Formats: sequence, C-alpha cells, structure tokens
Amino acid sequence: MTAICRQQITVLGSTGSIGVSTLDVIARHLEQYQVFALTAHTSVDTLAIQCQQFNPRYAVVGDAGTAEQLRKQLTHNRCQSEVLYGVDALEQVARAPEADTVMAAIVGAAGLMPTMAAVRAGKKVLLANKEALVMASTLFMAAVATSGAQLLPIDSEHNAMFQCLPAGVTDLPRAGISKLLLTGSGGPFRTWSDSAIHNATPEQACNHPNWSMGRKISVDSATLMNKGLELIEACSLFNVPPSSIQVVIHPQSVIHSMVEYVDGSILAQLGNPDMRTPIAHALAWPERIASGVSSLDIVAAARLDFEEPDLERFPALALAMAAAKQGNGAPTVLNAANEVAVAAFLERRISFGQIAQLLTTVMNLATMAEPADLFEVQALDQYARRIALEQMPQCVA
Ligand code: NAD
Ligand code: MG
Repeated sequence: MTAICRQQITVLGSTGSIGVSTLDVIARHLEQYQVFALTAHTSVDTLAIQCQQFNPRYAVVGDAGTAEQLRKQLTHNRCQSEVLYGVDALEQVARAPEADTVMAAIVGAAGLMPTMAAVRAGKKVLLANKEALVMASTLFMAAVATSGAQLLPIDSEHNAMFQCLPAGVTDLPRAGISKLLLTGSGGPFRTWSDSAIHNATPEQACNHPNWSMGRKISVDSATLMNKGLELIEACSLFNVPPSSIQVVIHPQSVIHSMVEYVDGSILAQLGNPDMRTPIAHALAWPERIASGVSSLDIVAAARLDFEEPDLERFPALALAMAAAKQGNGAPTVLNAANEVAVAAFLERRISFGQIAQLLTTVMNLATMAEPADLFEVQALDQYARRIALEQMPQCVA
C-alpha cells in the first residue's frame, strides 16, 4: 500500500482575512493538504479554534504572554500543538524541512523575515504579503532565483496575470507580451469629491464595495496606495518596468487583471471577487481544485466599465508610480511611511487626506539608496518610519 503524502502547509498570519480564506480552502481538501504550522500576532481565541480544527504541529504568536494564554486554551481543549513565540519562531516554521508550502499572509513589514526564510529554504511560497516584496524586491527576487523557491502570487491581480501568461515565462517581451493591465475597483471613494475624501473616517475607508479584507489593505485600497504597491509588486514578480504596466480602474472587480500580447490579443482572468480563487489556484498549481467560490453569473454582471485612475484625487497612487520609476530604496521608504500613516489614520491621529500629505513629505525628505542586504532594508524601513513619526505633528497642524 502506498502512503498518501499530503502537502504540509505553514500559514503565516492564519487569523487574518487571507489566513482564514486559506484554511477554508484547505478544509475542503484535507486528503491533499495538512496544516503544519499556524501563526498569529495576538488573536489567541481565533488561533485556538483553528488549532483545534487543524491540529498543527506548531502554533506561533507574538510574545511570551500571548503564548501563555494560548497554551492555557490549548490544554483546556486537549489540543497538542506546540506553542512558540517571536520572530525567530516565525522563521523556524517558515523554513522547517517538514513544510512544503508557506502561505505568506502576515500584513506589512512584519512579514518580511519569515517570508524570506521560506524563500531562502526553497519552499513553494504563496505570496499575499505584498509589502515584503515591495520593501526588498531586488533581494527577494534574487533569493527566489538562488534557492529555486516556487513563488506564486496570491494578490488577485498578480494571480490573474500569472494565469494569463504562458507557463514558465521569464522574459515577457520575448514571449510577445506588450503590456500588463493592472485593474482595481477604485475603492470606496472612487466617486467622492476631494473634500469628502479628505475627511473620510476609518469606518468609511474600511467599507470596501467589492472585497472584504484586513483594515490596513482596506485603507490602502481607499487611498489607491494598494494599486501603487501592486504596481511595484508586478514589476518585481514579472521583471518588467513600470512603463509596461497600465493601471485601469474597473469598478465591478470582475476582471482581476489582463495581459496584452503584440498581436493585439488581451487575455483576462474573470471571477467573483473572492480571495479563495487565487488561493486555491496557487495551492493546487499546476492543477486545479474547487475553492468554494460561486460561479460568476456573467449575464447578471451584465456590464464591465473601465476608466483612468484620477491621480489628483488619489495622490498616493502617483507617489507609488514615482517610487516604482525611481527604484533603489524609494519603494522601501514609501512602504514604511505608508504603514505609519495608515496606522495613525486608523487611530484617528491624522485625517484621510493627511495620509498622502505625510507620504509626500517623507518622500521629499528621505535619502533612498538601494539596500544591499536585509539588514539595510530593515534599517531603511526604520529610518523612514522615524521621519514619518517626526513629520506627523507638522502634517497634523
Ligand atoms: P489581516 O489584518 O486580516 O491579517 C493579518 C495577519 O497577520 C493576522 O493573522 C495577524 O495576526 C498577523 N500579524 C499582524 N501583525 C503581525 C506581526 N507584527 N507579526 C506577526 N503577525 C502579524 O490582513 P489581510 O487582509 O489578511 O492581509 C494579509 C496580507 O495579504 C497583506 O499583506 C495584504 O496586503 C495581502 N492581501 C490581502 C488581501 C485580502 O483580500 N485581504 C488581498 C490581497 C493581498
Ligand atoms: Mg490586489
């Protein structure tokens, strides 16, 4: 009898929006996938429930106190997962020899080191954590090439592009690809006036018309910084300059992105806006599995609209486009400043309009040499955060 070998998966950020969707897909295919490790920062209750359901070998949290709380809950539930904590533990479960696949779904710069650990260990890496790639793109992609890691995009736009590209393509122009069309819904403020946008509240910013997501990416979607980070992400993933990518606003979020070929063909990937589709695609790649997402009713969808992004009402996108062109350390600085600004906005310390103002100030003040290693990436990230925090009171005044 042959033993059935299930794919062993580490889910970094399992309690977040992407993490929960990942476990939803895995739960539909337990004959194929087994959870090796789950991680969360502070969400002990959710992680305890996930541990009971998936019985991972390891559960990782942010600090010793949180680990103690989780241990108590697991003991009470007779769950045998071993509890670890801290950044080293995140890296340990990302690079563990037993793990075949790592879902990188921590939000923000905190995901960089564990994601890089998975990349360096040559894992199949499902990349949701776009900030990790944006802040360290050259080093990240070099590590992918050296280790032979299989990098599969989870961001719906990049996953769509990946699906529309020829298998294994590395040189897009040589493969007859003339352009990538990066679509975005335009966010909750697409039709709002300048002044209404300026004073928008966190509740309004997090109320996305088409997607249900974590709070940080929801705010990024409202400023269009998310589209900007995705532009930088696409340049790195597909090795193309920003001039080969067109950002297109498509309010219905039915097309998730497109690839144009030199013969005039444009291939698009369509589907309901539900992250379980790209997650299932990447988990099973190059095969296909059911995701639980309902079939798109193309007749009910009826019409698809497209428009240019408005860079004046959404200056964060213009800043990201400039950072993409500038390269070097500019994306690292922009990403770090954006994390500080979004956190301040969510804590009601600055207005929505002040997010882009603060980013403009930081981009004008910071010096941005290309980081030579991950230590320099983190130093540049910290430097940009310091400038953002220093400039915040002036920006608020
Ligand atoms: P979320 O806020 O819902 O979840 C974040 C997860 O990361 C949680 O499990 C949390 O415990 C963990 N985490 C937070 N801070 C941490 C820290 N300092 N150290 C360790 N773990 C930490 O976020 P999300 O919406 O699931 O997004 C996750 C990533 O996926 C982001 O990079 C986002 O841009 C990307 N992404 C999300 C979506 C989506 O639909 N939600 C779509 C595309 C890409
Ligand atoms: Mg996206």
